[in-house]
Amino acid sequence: MPKSKLLFGKTIGIIGGGQLGRMMATTARHMGYRLVVLDPTPNCPAGQLADQQIVASYDDMGAIKQLASVADVVTYEFENVDFKAAQYLAEIGLLPQGTKALEMTQDREKEKGLLKSINQPIASYQIVHDMNDLKRASEAIGYPAVVKTCRGGYDGKGQLTLHSGADLVEVDERLKNKDRLIYEEFLNFDCEISVVFTRSVTGEMIYFPIAENQHRDHILHLTIVPARVSQKVIEQAKEAARVIAEAIDVVGTFTIELFVKGEEIFINELAPRPHNSGHFTIEACNISQFEQHIRALCQLPLMPVIFHGGAVMINLLGDNLEDYFAKVDQLERAHIHMYGKDQIQLKRKMGHLTFVDSDRDQLLATLKDRQLI
Ligand code: AMP
Repeated sequence: MPKSKLLFGKTIGIIGGGQLGRMMATTARHMGYRLVVLDPTPNCPAGQLADQQIVASYDDMGAIKQLASVADVVTYEFENVDFKAAQYLAEIGLLPQGTKALEMTQDREKEKGLLKSINQPIASYQIVHDMNDLKRASEAIGYPAVVKTCRGGYDGKGQLTLHSGADLVEVDERLKNKDRLIYEEFLNFDCEISVVFTRSVTGEMIYFPIAENQHRDHILHLTIVPARVSQKVIEQAKEAARVIAEAIDVVGTFTIELFVKGEEIFINELAPRPHNSGHFTIEACNISQFEQHIRALCQLPLMPVIFHGGAVMINLLGDNLEDYFAKVDQLERAHIHMYGKDQIQLKRKMGHLTFVDSDRDQLLATLKDRQLI
């Protein structure tokens, strides 16, 4: 990793130029850093704000070397960074986040194996390679169950819910095309939460308030902060985050997503980066998940987090964008973020709205009253 602190004027390289890269870029800009973004789509959301965009695929080693030649430090906005590229950047000292967190989060089998090995609570699961494994898993775990791909799935993509043995046929079809799948117990949870935190290269950890997340069609729809869970659940979730962060030596902003059932937690997924459920931090905290991330990367001291008291974040997808802007006169308290994507598509994240108040319940009541949530 860079041997000393990186101050303003240095160049941050970002692999991936979507909305997370864009929000990192906005922050890096106001802190005085220069930016270079690697993304295959010209004029991508982060590229619009960068000093330079390298238009190339993520596994193009020539492009990675070009990025390395201009950047003083490199980060990424998603976990599916080409692993060889990440190894190269780590070896030449440009990737303070290292490769361990990427290795674990690029593959659900490794991620679950890690969580199991450090005694973290997760839903029962089995790895399935063929029809025999599938039969064994369905007998051991039963129904309903969720089948997930080991690699490349996000926002519930590649996920299937099974209700009975009749649904196994579809899984068999998938096994013909995929190398491994995860057969996982379906949890009838009360709610989903996430812990977004930042860890420095020296191991200092700062948490953002725990967020409660509501999904629609597996895509995050709404984040409510603080999460409506007990102090005991909050403590367990923070402790899980600490144990995980230490096990894989996290640097930067990182997210763990959990299910809550009664007073029990189950870890669902890890994201080695700022997260959609942490967007509220931009306006509802004194420092955002993105600014804290840049500080960790550049080895500046992390800032203690102060939260205003209540926040609601609504994702704007191709599906609901028009509905919200039809009510724009009622959005006087909404911070509007649009990601600069030129094609509006269903299920595509186009932007988000954040509402902030000193009181979560009052805010929720107002938004419900106005039929905004
Ligand atoms: P994932 O791709 O693992 O993040 O899952 C996307 C969404 O699917 C989660 O946010 C949950 O709403 C749902 N989901 C995933 N795994 C399970 C499970 N084991 N039981 C119930 N719902 C699940």
